[in-house]
Amino acid sequence: MNELLKKTASEQRKALLNKEISAVELVNAEFARIESIDETLGAFNSLCKEQAIETAKEVDKKIAAKEDLPPLAGIPLALKDNINLKDTKTTASSKILENFVSPYDATVSKKLKENLIPILGKVNLDEFAMGSSTENSAFKITRNPWDTNKVPGGSSGGSAAAVAGYEATLALGSDTGGSIRLPASFCGIVGMKPTYGRVSRYGLIAFASSLDQIGPFGRCVEDTALLLEAIAGHDSHDSTSLDIPVPKFSDCLNKDIKGKKVGVIKELLGDGVSEDVKKAVEAAIQTYKDLGAEIVEISLPLLEHSIGVYYILATAEASSNLARFDGVKYGHRTENPKNLLEMYTKTRAEGFGDEVKRRIMLGTYALSAGYYDAYYKKAQQIRRLIKEDFDRAFEKVDILVSPTCPNTAFEIGSKISDPLSMYLTDIGTISANLAGIPGLSMPCGFDSDGMPIGLQILAPALGEDKLFNMAYNFEKATDFKSVQPKI
Ligand code: GLN
Repeated sequence: MNELLKKTASEQRKALLNKEISAVELVNAEFARIESIDETLGAFNSLCKEQAIETAKEVDKKIAAKEDLPPLAGIPLALKDNINLKDTKTTASSKILENFVSPYDATVSKKLKENLIPILGKVNLDEFAMGSSTENSAFKITRNPWDTNKVPGGSSGGSAAAVAGYEATLALGSDTGGSIRLPASFCGIVGMKPTYGRVSRYGLIAFASSLDQIGPFGRCVEDTALLLEAIAGHDSHDSTSLDIPVPKFSDCLNKDIKGKKVGVIKELLGDGVSEDVKKAVEAAIQTYKDLGAEIVEISLPLLEHSIGVYYILATAEASSNLARFDGVKYGHRTENPKNLLEMYTKTRAEGFGDEVKRRIMLGTYALSAGYYDAYYKKAQQIRRLIKEDFDRAFEKVDILVSPTCPNTAFEIGSKISDPLSMYLTDIGTISANLAGIPGLSMPCGFDSDGMPIGLQILAPALGEDKLFNMAYNFEKATDFKSVQPKI
């Protein structure tokens, strides 16, 4: 393998500008890597070789002509397979969309193209982004590059495994309850969920529209900051996208953090957190102290309800969003149905996997007459209270820290038949989606088996600059990103 594939985007950019390698060679080196390793890792659902090489050629032309290049031009990226990219398959890792070819670009895909970022292919996920391990994909299991018997986390497991396994330098994922941060944590890379509305959702296959956000993965904080700059901004195609300027996050990284206040979420460092994770996160807190930050303990008493609230709201929204997959407009249709009703029911019975069916049933129940007030409305009210808990916390501190997940990556197959224990892996991440605030996961240590541990950092809404600044200073003061999987 070309050692350059292990480097960060800015290191690769230097190599491109110094003509140590051309953009086409870099992209081809990634395809060679994918060819040699992806049978083991299972990150990619499909490749977009022609498109990627076309983009790389354009970059090479601009380099030869000494023209200005966007900061991530030529840096290979893996796209989660629930984000539309024109003329490529977009499956959401579901049988129901197995042969669906996207007729248009998602806004983020359009922006990637404008930034001359070669898109290598579409990467695996839990079907419709429902899951925490990528085992719910209808097509294949994705494995963790640190230990291929373990899950990469989910639902953006393909995105994280591709970056950690040197099959791509960057990736995009989507995060509804932790689906970027959890796999970033399990795979030892940086993953970031922006403020709700920061990035357009146009062209993202909807799971739970009031919680979904697209966000970046990278090998270091700077890479994710640059990638967010490339994809963020207002979009008239998404009425929830925020019409405000996008700051240059990469300019805020180096600022001194002396005197900043770091809140430690008490409830996320208590019972149920593995000893190794606890130790690593406590050491991270000490690092912040050494950097001159003030540490404040913060209690978020309603956090314990976040999983319950999430699994009512997310499933309710999913049951409505997934009603569109009816065999008429998209993808799979059952063969020889006796009548229209049977066409609908058989198409959906054949097309959706077990977890998706479970969510549709839960959500339909929560929204049904008589239960709406008891479940859906109550959950909305508690969601508001959780948000207010965060508002109060951010009056006292600049950022909040916690483990991204109470444990490290688990064995493939160990939780798949126990949905409740799978749902509990999201206890650290879900509340940020309910509150709409930005969150990031970055490496902060390893457990006794050598598996990566993630530190989660949360900031107030639109506080991405603070988030990246605090994360960058931690990264600079530690050396976790230099430890890479030997795969
Ligand atoms: N694991 C959570 C779920 O299954 C979150 C998924 C996500 O963020 N897309 O719903």
